[in-house]
Amino acid sequence: NSTLLEIRNLKKYFPIRGGLFGRPVGHVRAVDGISFSVRSGETLGLVGESGCGKSTTGLLVLRLIEPTAGEVLFQGQDVAKFKKPELKNFRRHAQIVFQDPYASLNPRMAVGDIIAEPLMLHNIAAGPDRTKRVEKLLRLVGLGPQHAGRYPHEFSGGQRQRIGIARALAVEPKLIVCDEPVSALDVSIQSQILNLLVELQQELGLTYLFIAHGLNVIKHISDRIGVMYLGKMVELAEGDELIKNPLHPYTRTLLSAIPLPEPGVKKNRIILQGDVPSPANPPSGCRFHTRCPACQNICSRQEPEFREISGRFVACHLVK
Ligand code: SF4
Ligand code: MG
Repeated sequence: NSTLLEIRNLKKYFPIRGGLFGRPVGHVRAVDGISFSVRSGETLGLVGESGCGKSTTGLLVLRLIEPTAGEVLFQGQDVAKFKKPELKNFRRHAQIVFQDPYASLNPRMAVGDIIAEPLMLHNIAAGPDRTKRVEKLLRLVGLGPQHAGRYPHEFSGGQRQRIGIARALAVEPKLIVCDEPVSALDVSIQSQILNLLVELQQELGLTYLFIAHGLNVIKHISDRIGVMYLGKMVELAEGDELIKNPLHPYTRTLLSAIPLPEPGVKKNRIILQGDVPSPANPPSGCRFHTRCPACQNICSRQEPEFREISGRFVACHLVK
């Protein structure tokens, strides 16, 4: 498969303002030098605790915020260099589905208008053609066209997320950043939305960058999984390999938090010591060393390189 998206040494530092005149007094290193690529048609899962930089990565990929350093290449082209027409074209081909289907839909707009809005912005179809497209999109996400005149508050959380997905699909994107699209939903609804996303991907040939805070959701949907900790990527591998044989101690911790399907089978849950350190002042050496159960002397002194080991990538001194 060809590469749709390539991320090169991407960084995003947010200034911390304080003191007199609100001068910057430091930086939150939300994303601190990550590199990976996403193949056309695949789902790349990005996983890590809140504050690890995964949502910021999603916003950087879509150029909704500007990076401090590094590059995002979409179909081989640097998105930072796009001028107006190219940027508009890029905005069409790279969409987002947000975590909160309650906050992301305008409560004053009818659902049909919400879905038609991106079509209007991109001058796609008009009049009855546009109405037909909206109806088709409503069917595609499992809602009927009869819902077009209703308002967001009349729908359940799962239905609202279907509306958010229809809006993202309206302009026929290639890439969709799914930022925790099921985290705000009841567990019973989560698998319905995940199944819908999988079906749509197969039908429409979509590529997903799928962000989640735990491995339980992401392992079902991802072809490959990248694990982030404090602004760094610590492991990247094929999903089933990462689940079967996690190499990085942090990945093992995340994995131990997933309940096993068989009841009565005991698994050792790894409980990390201490809190997540501040991304404004990350630990020296390996950023995980203050909490890592396998920490050695070298770990606080030297940062492990993110390097390739038999087809996968990992950043840990102990993994040879
Ligand atoms: Fe743990 Fe050291 Fe590996 Fe970091 S480099 S994950 S502290 S063993
Ligand atoms: Mg987030």
